[in-house]
Amino acid sequence: MNGLMQDWPLLCHRIIDHAAINHGNRKVISRSVEGPIVETTYAEIRARALKVAQRLTRDGVRPGDRVATLAWNTGRHLEAWYGILGCGAVYHTLNPRLYPEQIAYIANHAEDRVMMADISFVPLLESLAPKLPTVERTILLTDKANMPKTSLKNAVAYEEWIGEVDGDFRWAGLDENSAAGMCYTSGTTGNPKGVLYSHRSNVLHALGGNSAEMLGLNSHSVMMPVVPMFHANGWSIPFTAPMAGATLVMPGPKMDGASIFEMLDRYQVTATAGVPTVWFMLLAYLEESGKKLEHLERVIVGGSACPRAMTKTFQEKYGVEVSHAWGMTEMSPLGSTCAITPEVAHLSGDERLDLQEKQGRAPFLVEMKITDDAGKEIPWDGKTFGRLKVRGPAIARSYYKAEGGNVLDDEGYFDTNDVATIDEHGYMRITDRSKDVIKSGGEWISSIDLENLAVGHPSVAEAAVIGVPHPKWDERPLLVVVAKPGQQPDKAEILKFMEGKIAKWWMPDDIAFVKEIPHTATGKIQKTTLREQFRGYRLPTAD
Ligand code: AMP
Repeated sequence: MNGLMQDWPLLCHRIIDHAAINHGNRKVISRSVEGPIVETTYAEIRARALKVAQRLTRDGVRPGDRVATLAWNTGRHLEAWYGILGCGAVYHTLNPRLYPEQIAYIANHAEDRVMMADISFVPLLESLAPKLPTVERTILLTDKANMPKTSLKNAVAYEEWIGEVDGDFRWAGLDENSAAGMCYTSGTTGNPKGVLYSHRSNVLHALGGNSAEMLGLNSHSVMMPVVPMFHANGWSIPFTAPMAGATLVMPGPKMDGASIFEMLDRYQVTATAGVPTVWFMLLAYLEESGKKLEHLERVIVGGSACPRAMTKTFQEKYGVEVSHAWGMTEMSPLGSTCAITPEVAHLSGDERLDLQEKQGRAPFLVEMKITDDAGKEIPWDGKTFGRLKVRGPAIARSYYKAEGGNVLDDEGYFDTNDVATIDEHGYMRITDRSKDVIKSGGEWISSIDLENLAVGHPSVAEAAVIGVPHPKWDERPLLVVVAKPGQQPDKAEILKFMEGKIAKWWMPDDIAFVKEIPHTATGKIQKTTLREQFRGYRLPTAD
């Protein structure tokens, strides 16, 4: 027997309808690419998104067509997403930090028909134009006054383009399983692969993502996503914030410490989210300037492991609670947060910081397991490492055009390629990427644990650990360090600092000092390049 409830497809544009009707005056404040800070509301965002949808339809864009965006976090980018998905097309975020050839590969693979871009990317797009045969026109997210001269095909200023329609448009009536958005993985090995979100998966993910122990936004929240919309579905904040009626503060192109502080302070931001790299810059700025975070209550840190020292500084020096989060593009992307449950609520001081180093617990809609290499489940004892696998309605079941073939196991779980432990309370801790874990004498050493420990040394700005071939142990850890400006730590001093905090056999065999550690376009340490850089490196213990 079926239930007798209404059929109400889970469509993403219903989120902006809800925000416009129930939180219509709530602000969306953006640092524009042109410079000034501009304010709008959810009601206006919806009205203009309807114009985008109407105008795209008039340009011949049909349901399922891909419309690329190459843009920073701004209100215009937000209304472009809703306009694109609202006419049944698919927003496809391009990451401007990728190599130009990778951007071309991705746009061609997705067969993007339209490009919506910030004016700052005009030179990049002009150089790529001959390599982008599927792109029929470019809409520059600006007005007539700021429109640059360009050779781009059918280029038009966004404000003029939407100015040609009246917004009298009905959102596309779609099946909830229709594609809504697309984001390519960063492709640290091989070519990037496309993840295709559906309306249903985005709506469900936003509902789960907004639960109290995840982002937990509400109409009092003032949320600033520092994580760009082109990273992993913008961590879903373009959906969770309007769904909750939270005020949105968009940082635009400026991510340096002073600019981020200015937005946090001036607009009384209560919650913000981003990768550790941006928080390093913010904390350095606070240290230098002596400024305080008066309004910020919570910082959500993910994308890479949040170093213990960072959690400690935010919480103890600035009174800002850190929520360590983990996820991936393939998971829409939120997979866990380190919320405090009653079982661990008694922890304080160092013990609480120990817990917060973990990436945390799965929300409803995410199921996790850890297995050995043969696929056999291993215990949740907080010690045994295994491959982390996940399943749920907002997790990829395949890549676009079936790249990579079948990605699910017999039980429908997706292999995250992360290695993790899970403790008896369900707290998951990432110990490595499966290809970065150091295999020493048949045992595994977590490169992330060593990195987190090393950055706790007062003279270390950044640290990376890679496995280097060793005649006896197969591989041993090499610690690569960038010193803080003006500091010259020596090897012995860093090793002494690490001693006693980890098992003896985990201690790095050597330390190399470098000026810079290579990063991927999403801010993660690029271990492949680093391994290349240290190919043939001879450890002192190898003799
Ligand atoms: P991406 O799809 O580019 O967001 O990359 C996802 C990967 O980033 C995950 O599979 C993890 O390896 C890594 N990652 C994300 N969040 C964390 C975290 N909090 N700690 C450690 N690694 C993380």
